[in-house]
Amino acid sequence: MDELNGWLGAREVAGNLRELRPVARRRGGRLVLAGGGERTLLDFSSNDYLGLSEHPEVVEGSRRALEEWGAGSGAARLMSGDLLLAHRLEEAVASLKGQEAALLFGSGYLANAGIIPALVGREDVIFADRLDHASIYDGCRLSGARLRRFRHNDLSHLEELLRGERGQGQALIVVESLYSMDGDRCPLRELVALKERHDCLLLVDEAHATGVFGANGGGLVEEEGAGAGVDLVMGTFGKALGSYGAYAAGSATMVRYLLNRARSFIFSTALPPAVLGASMAAVELVRTRPELRAELHRRVAVFKEELRQGGWSRPLGPSQIVPVPVGGSPEASGLAAALLDRGLYVTAVRPPTVPEGTARLRISITRHHGEADLREAVALILAAIRRHAPSLLA
Ligand SMILES: *Cc1c(COP(=O)(O)O)cnc(C)c1O
Repeated sequence: MDELNGWLGAREVAGNLRELRPVARRRGGRLVLAGGGERTLLDFSSNDYLGLSEHPEVVEGSRRALEEWGAGSGAARLMSGDLLLAHRLEEAVASLKGQEAALLFGSGYLANAGIIPALVGREDVIFADRLDHASIYDGCRLSGARLRRFRHNDLSHLEELLRGERGQGQALIVVESLYSMDGDRCPLRELVALKERHDCLLLVDEAHATGVFGANGGGLVEEEGAGAGVDLVMGTFGKALGSYGAYAAGSATMVRYLLNRARSFIFSTALPPAVLGASMAAVELVRTRPELRAELHRRVAVFKEELRQGGWSRPLGPSQIVPVPVGGSPEASGLAAALLDRGLYVTAVRPPTVPEGTARLRISITRHHGEADLREAVALILAAIRRHAPSLLA
């Protein structure tokens, strides 16, 4: 116990201790923390970008599935847990992603932890962007493949590594299409050209892009027209789709292979009916209501414009995820705490989620936020920066 306490103490001193914060109530982009009195906070930390977690059709889809099938799926898919509902959802997702087939996973974490070791092993090599999500890195470790990390979005660095270390075995490149903590985009078309020159597999994680980008909400792979060059696209239902669980989409052969090979699929209970029903309704909404996306993008534009008019001159990136770079962990936590005091809930993202010295506020805009909320949030953020980190406005 002394060792554990020592470790926790060191974390705390560095400003990197993590703690849970129970939410007592939440609705429409606002929340009340348990033990926080009746104070309502504006929530700018959620990944429910389109507000679908509360959409009546999603809630109704979930309720219908729950009533028809019960609470649990009862077993893994390869046992008796293979509900027809899951197949319908896989067809809908494959079509949303413009791929032949799709396979569901329990979560995005489980998807990456299962897919990567299914594709590569000890004789092989993985090239991963430095800022790839932890679940990707855990999948890489589980695979036992050699791992080479390239500088974030730096394809010349990737090419240099490919020239020197491609080797004879299988090579897998793993990227995110929209980076979760930086909100910037991967140069997908250039990447596809590169992976073809060097005969690699390409896995793209679309966790934050699905539902938000693409004419049909299929994500950035759709928007860039890169689907044919990507071997496997994964994503989660837990973000813009407002539900839970994840999928991988690719060729029919790829999906048949994963279903036989990905251990996190084979040895884990199927997603419950209520979750499948919610995800199904969410995919339908994303496909048929482009105005949901358009509304989100308008809100993002308002937020950024307000920030610029208030004196912010640094880049704000191309997406609904807006990082405010702070640097030190204690400073980032201090800024988040000051904002919380004034009614704004934003996350201070610190190491090890992001590299040492790059702690930031991660502001996430959702369709829940009306213009008045956006203006209020910007005013609070600028006031807190002026007070606690004025150099950011220089
Ligand atoms: C959130 C996230 C995951 C994990 O998905 P979950 O469904 O939350 O487990 C994987 N990759 C990226 C890039 C993510 O942001």
